[in-house]
Amino acid sequence: MAHQWRGVVAEYADRLPAHLLERTVTLGEGGTPLVPAPVLSERTGADVYLKVEGMNPTGSFKDRGMTAAMSAAAGRGAKVVVCASTGNTSASAAAYATRAGMICAVLVPDGKIAMGKLSQAIAHGARLLQVDGNFDDCLVAARKLAESYPVELVNSVNPDRIEGQKTGAFEIVDALGDAPDIHVLPVGNAGNITAYWKGFREYAGLCPDAPGGSLPAVATRTPAMWGFQAAGAAPIVLGHPVTEPETVATAIRIGNPASWRQAEEARDDSGGVIESVTDDQILAAHRVLSAEAGVFVEPGSAAGVAGLLSRAERGLVPAGARVTVTVTGHGLKDPQWALRTLDGADVEPTRVSADVVSIADALDLS
Ligand SMILES: *Cc1c(COP(=O)(O)O)cnc(C)c1O
Repeated sequence: MAHQWRGVVAEYADRLPAHLLERTVTLGEGGTPLVPAPVLSERTGADVYLKVEGMNPTGSFKDRGMTAAMSAAAGRGAKVVVCASTGNTSASAAAYATRAGMICAVLVPDGKIAMGKLSQAIAHGARLLQVDGNFDDCLVAARKLAESYPVELVNSVNPDRIEGQKTGAFEIVDALGDAPDIHVLPVGNAGNITAYWKGFREYAGLCPDAPGGSLPAVATRTPAMWGFQAAGAAPIVLGHPVTEPETVATAIRIGNPASWRQAEEARDDSGGVIESVTDDQILAAHRVLSAEAGVFVEPGSAAGVAGLLSRAERGLVPAGARVTVTVTGHGLKDPQWALRTLDGADVEPTRVSADVVSIADALDLS
């Protein structure tokens, strides 16, 4: 146990607000692997690594922000928390609230939540309310509830969420010895791109007023931030909210991102881009990740890789650049996409009789 990872609040205590340390609520989140992806390096001519956030306790990066938000709420003596969610926030909030002995209310949009995530929220005992509306409606309602009742909001508009999530950037720099040239990630409500940009800047010593801002810089530079939205839910790319967002990538099916302005700042200040990728590109990247790189993610998580591959095809990835990609959530959350070919046909197992020769034949071994 001497070297057990303690969760991101304890591991990065000197760079987080002190109020998170009063009553830390943790399930050991963070410390996720940064996996080299030779398959993607070959396809892009860059040096590509995957930050595999599906390895967090509830299977997505949301746990980094949730340990912080829930620690802050616990420190203030909160009894009830609320969140709006496309799925992963509710899974995470439910688990951390249980850990903290709090009640967790979850507002999910009608009919668009991946089954794995819904079952997590229920398994952890959340008070789940399916709202007649989309994610953006749920977030408005959750904010109003928290304003009018003794309830803490744990969505990423809660600044403690961003504080926790910035540790993803810290871990990447710790693993590589410096910041990458380019950091890639999917963009939904835009909390994560905001958090990573904050983390990279703080680690490069560019935020003297941040907690730990007087500590020596760990990185010598910051990366260009490349964010990708789904084409049917791409408000930042289009420059206006999308009233009926639609995409297979339910985790980023958001028409009016709460951290819109911060995402544009991250893009502009880092010399990066925010572009959109189609559902076909997302599902193709999902397949490359699982069938070629050995990393199973949910569709939303594949949007970053889809964008990277798309830019590589257009000759827009600098040769030899060091590129890190946050793959945000685990494939088991929304596994149906693996059971379908890219043309939409169901995948059926090949039936064989129980003798070795038929099995060897079926495997083309003879
Ligand atoms: C929440 C989430 C996103 C989007 O992150 P934002 O911070 O909302 O931009 C992407 N992928 C997964 C798996 C998520 O859970």
